[in-house]
Amino acid sequence: MKKRRKPGNKIQRIRGYALALIFIGMIIMYLGVFFREYPVIFGAFLIIGLLPILLSFVIYFWVGMISARTITVQCPNCEKQTKILGHVDFCQHCKEPLTVDRELQGEDFSLDYNVKHRREKAIEEIRKQSDE
Ligand SMILES: [Zn+2]
Repeated sequence: MKKRRKPGNKIQRIRGYALALIFIGMIIMYLGVFFREYPVIFGAFLIIGLLPILLSFVIYFWVGMISARTITVQCPNCEKQTKILGHVDFCQHCKEPLTVDRELQGEDFSLDYNVKHRREKAIEEIRKQSDE
C-alpha cells in the first residue's frame, strides 16, 4: 500500500512557509558579506534579502487575519480543540481530516472541497447517489 504523506494543518503550513522566507532572506543577506568590499553588491544583497523577510511579515499578518475566521472545534479523533480553516482541514494534533459540511462527512477526503464549485459538485453527486 502506498503511504501518503499527510499534509499539516493549513495555518501551520502557511506559518512554515513564512518562517522559511525569513531564513531565505537571512541566507541572501549573509551571502552579501562575501562582497562587503563592494558596497553596491553588498547593498544589493541586503535589499534582495530584505524582500522575503518583508513578505513573511505580510504573510504573518495575513495569517493573523484569517485565523480570526477559523472555527474552533473539538476533534472527534483525539478530542483536543483544533482550528478549521475553510470547509475541510486537518486536525492540528492528530492530522485527522475534518469537515464542517454535513454532506461531506464520511466521504473520501479531498482538499478539493475547499474550492466552492468543486465542493458543490461533490455534494450534488453525493445527494444524487443517496437518492438512487
Ligand atoms: Zn485530532
